[in-house]
Amino acid sequence: MATRPDYYKTLGVDKRASAEEIKKAYRKLARQYHPDRNPDDKSAEARFKEISQAHDVLGDPEKRSQYDSGTGPFTTGAGPGGGFGGFGNFDFDGNSMGDILSNLFGGSASGRRVRTKPRPEKGADLEAQVSITFDQAVSGAQVPLQVPMHATCTTCRGTGAKPGTTPIVCPRCEGRGIETQGQGMFSISQPCSRCGGAGTVIEDPCPTCQGSGAVRTVKKLRVNIPAGVRDGSRIRIAGKGEPGRRGGPPGDLYLITHVTPSPVFKRKGDNFEIEVPLTIPEALRGAEVQVPTLNGSKTLRVAPGTAHGTVQRLRGEGPPKLNSGSPPQRGDLHYRFVIDVPKELSSDQQSVVEEMSKVFNGDPRAKLFAGSRASDARTASEAGDGAA
Ligand SMILES: [Zn+2]
Ligand SMILES: [Zn+2]
Repeated sequence: MATRPDYYKTLGVDKRASAEEIKKAYRKLARQYHPDRNPDDKSAEARFKEISQAHDVLGDPEKRSQYDSGTGPFTTGAGPGGGFGGFGNFDFDGNSMGDILSNLFGGSASGRRVRTKPRPEKGADLEAQVSITFDQAVSGAQVPLQVPMHATCTTCRGTGAKPGTTPIVCPRCEGRGIETQGQGMFSISQPCSRCGGAGTVIEDPCPTCQGSGAVRTVKKLRVNIPAGVRDGSRIRIAGKGEPGRRGGPPGDLYLITHVTPSPVFKRKGDNFEIEVPLTIPEALRGAEVQVPTLNGSKTLRVAPGTAHGTVQRLRGEGPPKLNSGSPPQRGDLHYRFVIDVPKELSSDQQSVVEEMSKVFNGDPRAKLFAGSRASDARTASEAGDGAA
């Protein structure tokens, strides 16, 4: 079942609000959530629709009293037969909104008017994949890139009209770009079906672009990959997307980086981890070992009696953090010591291990049985023995 929306709540007014108060609340909200002010914002658009529906009902004394008394088909949205649902069949694009508002707010007095010419359009954003080496990801790099995109047709300079001809004013809408049906408060406006809202039509299309004004092309770029990117990072390169239309700004280019992994340095969050194998004697007696860093090598002191899995950190010598300023902040290098246990022993090693086993003859597992559960189990079995 459809729910009954709370139109008073939608407009943020009291149930006893006067017609004037409702009108004021509606105007304020309608301006705030108007699609022109919130381009590409679906939630604002949905909110605007709700507000319009609420006003459609509460702004009309007859519908309001019907709504207040709990009668009438007031449900969310305006489905088939939705009665007073209001805006259900409207095409909510910028043009029709502008038209509705210009009627509501008295045209130019509110500073709004129906657009007669399509406004400049920002170029489309593009996405491209870039493969880089581990070193390039750490240090940053400039890489060549080929990006397929639309570009302004040079034959017609983007007009779409055959050179020597010009687009003519659309005979259907007479250049307004919109068609209007009905009149008064809620006239319905749609982009013109002949010219699609452009206000002009092309009679002789440009032979190069078939009238679209744009051609497919592959643009060669050199892009700067900042230091510290990871596999799967998304980087915005401002203004390198498709060119704008009618004088609009270009779109942006988003790069998805693919980084060849290093066999040595493994990403762990902001840090790199490096596995450092130790021989059994090195782990037992301690040692000084050479380990790789991002720009050379360093000596690490391994303490006597180092356990398998022990980690030593070199703070601030790890990978740079993306967009962390100049010089960038850096993560750490984590050296994880792992004891290299041979799978097979030479006969010399075999005899040494024999000797070792004679001296290392304690029971490291004794503590596993020191707990109460283990002694309970023993008591239980002794009791069983006694009963037998
Ligand atoms: Zn037209
Ligand atoms: Zn062309």
